[in-house]
Amino acid sequence: EEKKEASIPKTPLVPGTDTAAHPLVELTHVEKHFGALHVLKDINLTVNKGEVLVVVGPSGSGKSTMCRTINRLETIDSGDIRIDGKTLPQEGRELANLRAEVGMVFQSFNLFANKTILENVTLAPIKVRHMDKTDAERLAMDLLARVGVDSQAAKMPSQLSGGQQQRVAIARALAMKPKVMLFDEPTSALDPEMVNEVLDVMVELAHEGMTMICVTHEMGFARKAADRIVFMADGRILEQSTPDEFFEHPKTERAKDFLSKIL
Ligand code: ADP
Ligand code: MG
Repeated sequence: EEKKEASIPKTPLVPGTDTAAHPLVELTHVEKHFGALHVLKDINLTVNKGEVLVVVGPSGSGKSTMCRTINRLETIDSGDIRIDGKTLPQEGRELANLRAEVGMVFQSFNLFANKTILENVTLAPIKVRHMDKTDAERLAMDLLARVGVDSQAAKMPSQLSGGQQQRVAIARALAMKPKVMLFDEPTSALDPEMVNEVLDVMVELAHEGMTMICVTHEMGFARKAADRIVFMADGRILEQSTPDEFFEHPKTERAKDFLSKIL
C-alpha cells in the first residue's frame, strides 16, 4: 500500500485554488414527501468549500433521499437547494450543467456494463464537457492511476472486483471536475476486504480539499476524514457536530441509541 501512495502523480483533483470559505451546497427549509410519507422535514444544511460531511442515521431516515435531491435525482416539495449559489433548475441544459458539478457515487456499482473502464470515464467529459477524445483519455488514465486501476483500463466492468469498480466510479465522477462529491454508502455492497481500498481513495480526496458529502456507516472513516457529522433520524437533521463531539457527547437520545447499536 505504501508503494501505491508513493507512485500517485500529483495532479490536483480539486478545481480552484482559493481557500476562502464559501458555501457550495445550501439546503434551506427543504421538504419532501413520497405520497403520504414525509421523508425530509425542514432540512437546513450548508456545506462549505473543502468541507467533508459525514451523514449518519438509522435506515429509512432520509439520507439517500437528501443526497438525491442535491442533484435533482429527486424533486423537492418546497424549500431551496443551491449549488455554488445557483438554485437547481427544474430541467433542461442548465440542470445538466449544474448536475455535472455534483459527482455522485452510489452503493451499487453502476458502471456502463457494455463499455470499457476507459470509456466509462471518458464518456461524460466528451459528451457533456465537449472534451477532445485524446484529452479525455489522458485525463481518464491519470484519474484511473490516481485510484490505482489504470492497468484495468481496457477491461469491461464485469472483469473487475467490486472494490475496483467503485474506484472506477470515483474516477468517472472526478473526470467531470465536480465542485462537490456525494457518496451514498459506497462501501456497503463490498466484500469486507475491499472496503478499505475505497475508503483510502476517499480519505485522500478529503485531504486534497475536495468538498464531500458522504453517507456511510464506516465510523473509522468518519473519525479520520469528517469535519462535521450530520445525524439524521425520521427525516430530520437532529445533530450537526464535530466527530469528537458526536461520538463522545451525542446530544440527543436518538443519537445515543444509534451509536450504542453501531459502535
Ligand atoms: P436512508 O437512505 O436513510 O435509509 P431513504 O432516503 O432511502 O433513507 O428513505 C427514506 C424513506 O423514504 C424510507 O421510508 C423509504 O422507504 C422511503 N422512500 C425512499 N425512496 C422512495 C420512493 N422512491 N418512493 C417511496 N418511498 C421512498
Ligand atoms: Mg440510503
